[in-house]
Amino acid sequence: MTRSTAGTVVVTGAANGMGLACTRRFLADGKNVVMLDVNAESLAKAAQELAPWGERIRWREVDVTDELQLASTAEYVSSELGPATVLVNAAGILRSTPFESITRAEWDLVMNVSVTGSFLTSRTFLPQLRAAGEGRIVNFSSTAGKTVSTLGGAHYTAAKSALLGLTRALAKEVAGDGITVNAVCPGLIDTEMVRSTVTPTQRLALASSFPINRLGKADEVASLVAFLSSNEAGYITGAALDINGGDLMV
Ligand code: NAD
Repeated sequence: MTRSTAGTVVVTGAANGMGLACTRRFLADGKNVVMLDVNAESLAKAAQELAPWGERIRWREVDVTDELQLASTAEYVSSELGPATVLVNAAGILRSTPFESITRAEWDLVMNVSVTGSFLTSRTFLPQLRAAGEGRIVNFSSTAGKTVSTLGGAHYTAAKSALLGLTRALAKEVAGDGITVNAVCPGLIDTEMVRSTVTPTQRLALASSFPINRLGKADEVASLVAFLSSNEAGYITGAALDINGGDLMV
């Protein structure tokens, strides 16, 4: 399939879970997509599956905490598929360590990927988004950002809360450039992040406590991200949208 003129979406954490679901959704919607992920093996597997999209898809091994890698990636995106019009910051890491056992290194890892990674990636792609006229940024926070994480430790909750502050502050600064910045706050979504953290029995028990008593699907979150990235969502900015089966109602 040839390169699309409908815009270029950059997705971080694109090799798995919700980032991958967003990638599939944007491709189906006619966009060009650049998948960024630190996990080369998963990226290669996902890229193989999506290869039939041909000229509309690119992938690149990138650590979102690495400024130099991001800078060269911005040039790559622009020259390969045209400037980014949408940025989805989905890269994230979950750790469940109890507070007093969290090492400084683990604290830094969780904060760096979610918060610093989203900051650096957004800063890197802002010139391209600004040029697009109607740029969009969607950050992946969590129900944890509004309350306390079900599965993650204090670092995870702190990171997802900080991401909401980052979302609001950036939204205010770039609104005049036609760019919206929003966050999605998923509840428990059936991805590898959750499957590798809790057993099937624990997942069932958690799901049965939600008003909609099942885990969320990655595709459902991708639909929300696609809406926030569309022209129809042009008056929504600085928002944190819940998608949690009613687990948290505020
Ligand atoms: P996932 O583990 O399936 O995918 C996350 C991806 O991020 C992986 O492919 C991983 O390799 C990538 N990644 C990690 N560190 C990176 C780095 N430094 N640079 C680039 N890529 C990196 O997770 P998921 O469940 O799809 O979660 C996506 C996002 O949604 C995360 O930010 C997560 O914290 C958040 N979230 C998940 C849930 C859930 O229940 N699954 C709920 C709320 C929020």
